[in-house]
Amino acid sequence: MDAARLKQSWSQVAEFGDLVPLHFYSTLFLAYPETRQMFPSNMAGQRDRLVSALGHIVSHVDQVDSLVGFLHDLGGDHRKFAVRAEHYPAVGEALLATLRHFLGEAWTDELTQDWTAAYGLISQVMIDGAQAAEAVNPPWWVAEILGHERRSFDVAVLTLRPQYLLPFAPGQSIGVSHPAVRAWRYYSPANAPRSDGTLELHVRAAPGGAVSSRLVYGCAVSDQIHLAAPVGDRLTLWPAGTSDLLLLGSGTGWAPLKALVEQVAAEGSRRRVDLYVGARSPGEFYDNEAIEKLAAVYPWLAVTYVVGLDPQRPAESGHVVDRALADGDWRSRHVYICGSDEMVGHSVTTLARAGYHAGQLHHEGFGKHWYGPTWRTATAPDDSGGVR
Ligand SMILES: Cc1cc2nc3c(=O)[nH]c(=O)nc-3n(C[C@H](O)[C@H](O)[C@H](O)COP(=O)(O)OP(=O)(O)OC[C@H]3O[C@@H](n4cnc5c(N)ncnc54)[C@H](O)[C@@H]3O)c2cc1C
Repeated sequence: MDAARLKQSWSQVAEFGDLVPLHFYSTLFLAYPETRQMFPSNMAGQRDRLVSALGHIVSHVDQVDSLVGFLHDLGGDHRKFAVRAEHYPAVGEALLATLRHFLGEAWTDELTQDWTAAYGLISQVMIDGAQAAEAVNPPWWVAEILGHERRSFDVAVLTLRPQYLLPFAPGQSIGVSHPAVRAWRYYSPANAPRSDGTLELHVRAAPGGAVSSRLVYGCAVSDQIHLAAPVGDRLTLWPAGTSDLLLLGSGTGWAPLKALVEQVAAEGSRRRVDLYVGARSPGEFYDNEAIEKLAAVYPWLAVTYVVGLDPQRPAESGHVVDRALADGDWRSRHVYICGSDEMVGHSVTTLARAGYHAGQLHHEGFGKHWYGPTWRTATAPDDSGGVR
């Protein structure tokens, strides 16, 4: 397999933009109509996800050693779409037909062999991952909504009880789907694992958002939704670590940070935790009561609220990170950041400029659909607060 040739051919095809997924799905659904039901009824927005992920992964087959764990998990995760081993060749056929179509005369026998071998390798790892996951987890969990509280115009807090225990680590996210929507999105449990197995989710309705709008405006107590296995290690906290933490959250980005606070509490903390929680306006702090309770019970937890457009502090930036840096020097701490992509991007850039080390910054932006593991190159100076 010639990795450079694979990458080059993929970048040529990717230049055709939206036409690529259009061709891919038409080919797939025409040849294998039964695969149509795995995708949402409304394909807008779905279009580029599978194809760009596929093209990217397959053309990076030279890094397969570092991708094996991720692909293995991805195979297990794809069981939630009812993907079975026999669907992989169908997807491979549609992918090759799409490449052939767009590359025209540049599509050679060598390229056919390269793409066939690379796709075969990657799909086999995913099939193995799916088989291994069978022994551990169901493809998805049915969960009953035990509580549904509208905390603001566009935010709801849901309490869920999965039919079987859904194991996860604080800071991870789980797949969520509503049976009427048939699309999966990630949401981060806002609690550490509980003995009764219940989960709390904080969901903000994205304008026109398929899944989030359904969860906020179109669900009620006793409805059932579907959950899928947890993913991610960007915000997880090394168990029983000792380093102090700085938590920066805005909007529903507070959810995984709340889970981390509960983890620290459950471990009987020796850490100090400073939490900066932001919202665009005072009315958007949707979980104050819980935050106040935590701060009242745990003396190691200090909370600062930051309002984006605070009329009391017109000269100040509304970013949580700017407020935190104005308040102190946190360079000896691990910093966990969660919120919109814009908030996370600004925070990471600002902290890096202020001399913070990449290995002490743990972050997740909610704006992107989760796609893969963070490629960490830097290691933390003290990994007691780091990832696992
Ligand atoms: C790892 C991870 C964890 C997440 N955890 C949470 C969580 O705990 N709580 C939570 O509320 N959300 C969370 N999200 C975001 C969530 O997964 C969805 O992306 C979001 O709810 C929108 O999905 P949708 O189906 O409603 O919108 P879609 O139908 O996918 O998109 C509809 C429209 O909304 C826009 N859009 C998509 N996502 C966002 C967004 N986040 N903000 C603003 N506009 C958007 C799109 O560009 C599009 O125009 C998380 C995302 C990731 C990747």
